[in-house]
Amino acid sequence: MICACFVLIGVIGWADYKTLHKMTFSIFYLLPITVITWASNMWTGIAASLLSAVIWHFNDRIGGQHYVYAWIPYWNTFVRFSFYIIITIILSRLKQSMDRSAELYRKLEASYNELKQVEKELELKAHELSCSNADLEQFAFAAAHDLRSPLITIGGYINLLRKDYGEKLDKEAHDLIDTALRGVRRMELLINGLLSYARLESRGKNCVRTDMDEVVRTALSHLQDAIHKSRAIITCAPLCTVMADDVQMVQLFQNLIGNAIKFGGTVVPHIDISGEQNEEEWIIAVRDNGIGIAPENFEKIFGIFKRVPSKTDYPGCGIGLSLCKKIVERHGGRIWVESEIGKGSVFYFTIPDAKQPEIEE
Ligand code: ADP
Repeated sequence: MICACFVLIGVIGWADYKTLHKMTFSIFYLLPITVITWASNMWTGIAASLLSAVIWHFNDRIGGQHYVYAWIPYWNTFVRFSFYIIITIILSRLKQSMDRSAELYRKLEASYNELKQVEKELELKAHELSCSNADLEQFAFAAAHDLRSPLITIGGYINLLRKDYGEKLDKEAHDLIDTALRGVRRMELLINGLLSYARLESRGKNCVRTDMDEVVRTALSHLQDAIHKSRAIITCAPLCTVMADDVQMVQLFQNLIGNAIKFGGTVVPHIDISGEQNEEEWIIAVRDNGIGIAPENFEKIFGIFKRVPSKTDYPGCGIGLSLCKKIVERHGGRIWVESEIGKGSVFYFTIPDAKQPEIEE
């Protein structure tokens, strides 16, 4: 194609020559120059421009034109050559920018396809994960449920043994029975914890507008006994209204306030509940003056059945905070703790603002 265009320049020159340079041909050189520049590059375009200008000049000289000054034909040739060059440069720049746009578009398309692929894989993984989570929850639920009835039977039989044969048994046998019953009770506690954990998702309700002040009041009413016994002083700043499962919110506050009372240590528990809003979520804090938590346990305590070893003298089975974590995450939030041993702890959790539309149903 480029060769054909160079031939075309020759043909135009030949026609110009044949008509004794009496017809205007200079404009026709533009066609092959344009095609050459577009099909190859700027330098080939300049070469074609130069060739065209030289041919034009040659035809002008042998065409027998008379000029007043000798330099006029050179000036004319120079003007034509400059015109061709300008066209060549503009065209090659245009082509370069179009090539760059096309390259950019190709890259964009490739990234978009890659993104689509990743999105598909992510969807697949999320689906697999939710299936395996559902299976695990189902398994935990079935296991906990099935374990409960034999455990109740064992407890019943041990109690019956003590009732019917208590008089015939010595102190050592009574101690053994007590230990066995303690084990049964602890097992019951663990199974109940596991059941509530497994039920969180399946028994969770849809999110509705929930007044968190009301939620705290309900949680406190459930903890009346513990508050009364510990003489805990509880203050609560006005909180927010959020989209939430109100029953689970009560459960969340009940666990956090219950822990603040339980791990109060030797001092009278002072518990403060407050909330502050940032751009798209509420950060709620439950602050206490209890025994505190060592930094190395900040993450660990949110795991299921995870308790801090030195606190085994406090009752519990290590499920409360894992429930809290699951509830908060189900609502699209985060939970964390800041604490200092002997000075108290602050449990923070976030919950999307009621205005945020994408809260999980
Ligand atoms: P449990 O209360 O049954 O031990 P949790 O999951 O509620 O289980 O708590 C896990 C651990 O976190 C507790 O064993 C305790 O060591 C620590 N913890 C939780 N809340 C507090 C608190 N307010 N102050 C100090 N330690 C706490």
